[in-house]
Amino acid sequence: MSAIAFIGLGHMGGPMAANLVKAGHAVRGFDLSPASLELARAGGVTTVASVGEAVSGAGLVITMLPAGAHVLAVWQELVAIVPPGTLLMDCSTIDMGSARKAHALAAAHGCPALDAPVSGGTGGASAGTLTFMVGGDAAVFAEAKQVLEAMGRRIIHCGDASAGQAAKICNNMILGISMIAVGEAFVLGERLGLSHQALFDVASVSSGQCWSLTTYCPVPGPVPTSPANYGYEPGFAAALMLKDLNLSQAAAEDTGSMTPLGAKAALLYQLFADEGGGEKDFSGIINMLREKSASDTE
Ligand code: NAD
Repeated sequence: MSAIAFIGLGHMGGPMAANLVKAGHAVRGFDLSPASLELARAGGVTTVASVGEAVSGAGLVITMLPAGAHVLAVWQELVAIVPPGTLLMDCSTIDMGSARKAHALAAAHGCPALDAPVSGGTGGASAGTLTFMVGGDAAVFAEAKQVLEAMGRRIIHCGDASAGQAAKICNNMILGISMIAVGEAFVLGERLGLSHQALFDVASVSSGQCWSLTTYCPVPGPVPTSPANYGYEPGFAAALMLKDLNLSQAAAEDTGSMTPLGAKAALLYQLFADEGGGEKDFSGIINMLREKSASDTE
């Protein structure tokens, strides 16, 4: 494939672009932040001073930006300068409305487009083990798959335009809710005199089993690799979980879907962030549940 332009070289985009370089692609990257540019350079990315310079001669443009407004602003700039036929791919996590608008912008300028949000966090971005959830035309997906394989381990075509974003939002709503459920169960178990290990041993092989329990257990001990064992350093920051839950609630409102647990999870993560937990791993919400339980009985 011809050169790749990469716009947005932050915590995720920087290491993703570096993995493309490792796989032998010529990558020209642009970011507004000098610190992000410097880190990308250390990863072998050729950094440039503008979007225009990054996309010159590129057959594929990847964006990895904070939110929908950033993506639409950059894509508006892109479609004005890239030749028709240039493949545009957004890997950011954004709202459904912006994802659809981005696809429409690309289509109006004769550019094939994919939404390809990721799961796997900064660890997965560095290790090249991300999961990509991809929305867009099947033929365009087939064209982009090999590039995605340089950055990820599981590449899933979820359907037409914006289906990848839909999958990301729904998956993370499950995750946000299930982490609170597991946290609540451990706090209740503590008050019932049950050890963490005993609850883990039962629930991990019973019907309470889920990823939040068995891979990312929110209490220290049962799963030695979970952030609970490392002072709840992220991992996946609670502020990002809040962002994704808010995206799920915007989508639920637009579609008239009943998601009462998603709504409650968003409120609880908002409270956790308001009380200073936003930069902690999202599994740290168990500590807020425990603290609030204690004050209720005093
Ligand atoms: P980040 O804030 O570290 O990086 C975003 C980068 O975009 C920054 O370096 C910023 O300077 C740059 N940027 C903003 N506007 C720009 C513009 N107009 N032109 C060029 N660069 C611009 O964020 P991140 O953690 O890398 O996340 C990126 C996306 O990935 C977000 O949508 C996030 O929700 C999603 N995501 C993050 C994680 C995670 O664990 N961090 C996991 C999955 C998905």
